[in-house]
Amino acid sequence: MVASDALDALSNAPPLYWAYYETKVYLSDSGLWLIWQQSALSDRVPLATGCPWQPLVQRLPLRAQIFRLAMRKALIAANWKCHGSLTMVDEYAAVLEHSQNAEIAVFPPAVFLARYASKAANRSDCGIQDLGVAVSGAHTGEIAGDMVRAVGGRWVIVGHSERRHDQMESDDLVAKKLNAAVNAGLRPILCIGETEQQRDAGNALAVVEHQLRVALAGINVSQIYAGAIAYEPIWAIGTGRTATPRQAQDMHVGIRAVLRSLDVDAALATRIIYGGSVNAENASALFSQADIDGALVGGASLQLDTFTRIIAAVA
Ligand code: PEP
Repeated sequence: MVASDALDALSNAPPLYWAYYETKVYLSDSGLWLIWQQSALSDRVPLATGCPWQPLVQRLPLRAQIFRLAMRKALIAANWKCHGSLTMVDEYAAVLEHSQNAEIAVFPPAVFLARYASKAANRSDCGIQDLGVAVSGAHTGEIAGDMVRAVGGRWVIVGHSERRHDQMESDDLVAKKLNAAVNAGLRPILCIGETEQQRDAGNALAVVEHQLRVALAGINVSQIYAGAIAYEPIWAIGTGRTATPRQAQDMHVGIRAVLRSLDVDAALATRIIYGGSVNAENASALFSQADIDGALVGGASLQLDTFTRIIAAVA
C-alpha cells in the first residue's frame, strides 16, 4: 500500500537532495498526501510549506514524514450489481465503517442508493454502478451525477466490463462518462481489464493502457486522484479464477507507469485497486502487494460476513 515509487526514489536520494523536490501536501478524504516532483533549483519549496499541519508534521523525522505522507489509504468497494434488498441495505449500512486502514464504498442498485446513504450516515460511502452522460434532459432511464450527489452518493463505477460488454459501451463512451462523473463532483472508479484471449496473445498491458489513455484523455488527470482505477481482468470476474498476486501486481505497476507518463502526481496519489474473484481467502495476499491499493469486490461482497473479512485483510 505504500507509494513505492516515491519511497524508492527518496530512499536512494541523499537528504540534501530532498530539498530539490517541489512538494505539495493535501488532506483529502483518502488521507494525508505528500505529492512531490523533481523541480528546478529555483522552484525549490521546503517540505510542507504552507501546510496547516506543519507543526505536527515537523515533529516527525524527515524520513517518517515522507513515509507517512506518501501512504495511499486502501479502498474496498462492494459492487452488488443487480442483487440486494432493502434488508441488505440496512444491514450493511449499520455495520460497515471506514477505518484507519481502509475507506469503504458500497454500490447497491441505484434505487437503493438514497436509503443506503441515509442509513450509513457517512460511516461508509456509497455510489452508483453507472452514470448517464447528460446532466439532465430527455434521456429515459438515465441518472445524472447531480442526482446521485443529491441523495448522498459520492462514488460512481465507470466502464465496468459488464457494461462494456452487455451494453456495448465503447472506450469513447466510457471517457464521456468519466468526464460526466468528475464534473458532477463524484469520485470515479474507472474499470479497465483485458479478456483471456487478449492476455493469451500477450496483449494484456497494451489493451489496458489503451483503455486507460482514452478514458483519461477526457479529463484533467489530476481529477482521478480522488477516485481510483480498478484493474479487473475480465477472465477473473465472477469466475472464481482470481489473478495471482504477481499477475495483478505486474499489471498495477504497468498502470502506474502509464499514469506517471501522464502526470507524476497521479502515479503517486491514485489508488489502483484489483477486482476479479477477490474473496476472504485470497484478499490478504493480494493486498500485500505494494501497488494493490484495495479491491472492487462483486460476488464476495454479497455476504456481509465475507465482505467484512475482506476489509479486515487490509494490513
Ligand atoms: C466485479 O464485478 O467488479 C467483480 C470483481 O466481480 P467478482 O468479485 O464477482 O469477480
